[in-house]
Amino acid sequence: MTEEPQDRRLDGNAAAGPLAELFTVDLAAAVATCASCGRAAPLGAHLLYADAPGLVVRCPSCTGVVLRYAAGRTSLRLDLTGARLITVTLPGEAGAPG
Ligand SMILES: [Zn+2]
Repeated sequence: MTEEPQDRRLDGNAAAGPLAELFTVDLAAAVATCASCGRAAPLGAHLLYADAPGLVVRCPSCTGVVLRYAAGRTSLRLDLTGARLITVTLPGEAGAPG
């Protein structure tokens, strides 16, 4: 009996639990890989423009936009289009292969 792809599919609500772990960590040390040039650097080493509508984080190498974040009265918006990858090292796991 062959398992069809739709048999393995869940709705997006099932991703909320695992993603909650990501969004409760301190992101200052998270490593963001720029989608434009491929440079990986800690978020704290990026360039922040806080005077835009919301926050704009740019790559320290090519100055491409890595992420944008806006907090409104009724919603939070996070645009990660410019980040190829965000890596968060869990507490107590520094140096462990990932
Ligand atoms: Zn870049």
